[in-house]
Amino acid sequence: MNWSDEEFGFETRAIHAGQETDPGTGAIITPLYLTSTYAHSSPGVHKGFEYSRSHNPTRKAYEACVANLEGARFGFAFASGCIGATTAVAMLEQGDHVVCCDDMYGGTYRLFEQVFRKQGIDFCYVDLTGANMLEAAMKPNTRMVWLESPTNPLMKLLDIAALASVAHDRGVMVMVDNTFMSPFYQRPIELGADMVLHSTTKYINGHSDLIGGLVVTDDEEIANQLGFLSNTMGGIQSTFDAFLCLRSLKTLAIRMRAHERNAFSVARFLEGHDKVANVLYPGLESHPQYALAKAQMSGFGGMIAFTIKGGLPAARRMLETVNVFTLAESLGGVESLIEHPAIMTHSSLPEEKRLSLGIDDGLIRLSVGIESEADLLRDLDQALAAA
Ligand SMILES: *Cc1c(COP(=O)(O)O)cnc(C)c1O
Repeated sequence: MNWSDEEFGFETRAIHAGQETDPGTGAIITPLYLTSTYAHSSPGVHKGFEYSRSHNPTRKAYEACVANLEGARFGFAFASGCIGATTAVAMLEQGDHVVCCDDMYGGTYRLFEQVFRKQGIDFCYVDLTGANMLEAAMKPNTRMVWLESPTNPLMKLLDIAALASVAHDRGVMVMVDNTFMSPFYQRPIELGADMVLHSTTKYINGHSDLIGGLVVTDDEEIANQLGFLSNTMGGIQSTFDAFLCLRSLKTLAIRMRAHERNAFSVARFLEGHDKVANVLYPGLESHPQYALAKAQMSGFGGMIAFTIKGGLPAARRMLETVNVFTLAESLGGVESLIEHPAIMTHSSLPEEKRLSLGIDDGLIRLSVGIESEADLLRDLDQALAAA
């Protein structure tokens, strides 16, 4: 069945797209096909599956479901967000240039600078909050634009539609890392992106029990290349983890709504607290790009960054005092996490670059989970009191 977004809502598609009742048994859940190979009835004659690096029925259902939710036709599931990014950049050749947003996931920055630069691919990092900045940064050899919106950890927004149009005028592909919003709140393909990347480790799986990545595209030519590279490089998602992600997708919508409801309460609470200097949440009217947030996304998600007064000593005391929030890296799971970007997630950035971006020692990042709202507020209140 074709679960088109014209006919069916997001929640319905998240539960059914790519999945069929098992014809042999009637099982309503796509089975976990733990097999590496498939029988041929005659050499070259088979049921569409030959070897699980190339295709696996469980992974295929999961890829089809995420692609559907992103409004695209093709999806490729990988063992991590990083190997998904690696596989996408492997489409490029020596001498190619990529324009990236400046405030991006540290692991992607490390991949580009410490691996791909040695292979002869050139990268530049630009503040793309104005589309004219992209125009100025593109060179004759630019082949890809790499965007993240909102950015991590500063929650800057990029105008995906405007940037995609500038890139496409020069025939340049656009990749959007949509990890922070999930397809429930933002669909970059509909805004003109050619590819979307997810670290499914975060909201798509949402239960902090696996590492995974996914790339979707609606472009057949790009899909052919990604399919070839995925099969050739072999960075595929394991069948078991694909099964868990497919299971998690069924509750993506209700989880995202719950994350957002709690995040709104936390953001308003922090904004009113006298030990907090500044709160960055795209759903607050005080966010510098609130108008773009409302236009580009259908919601604001569960990620918040804020600056505590008193710098590192105050931040450290707060982070040591939380009880319901856990002091840990990562994000997007049902449990609330708190972390210190300068020391934890963004420590791989050179200090000068980190400070110029605005990631200072008082900056704290929250991934607001779906626990009871009152418990989260009480926990932050007592931890801020201790700071
Ligand atoms: C975590 C993350 C990644 C990397 O994904 P892994 O699954 O950890 O390999 C990429 N982009 C963003 C925005 C992330 O948060």
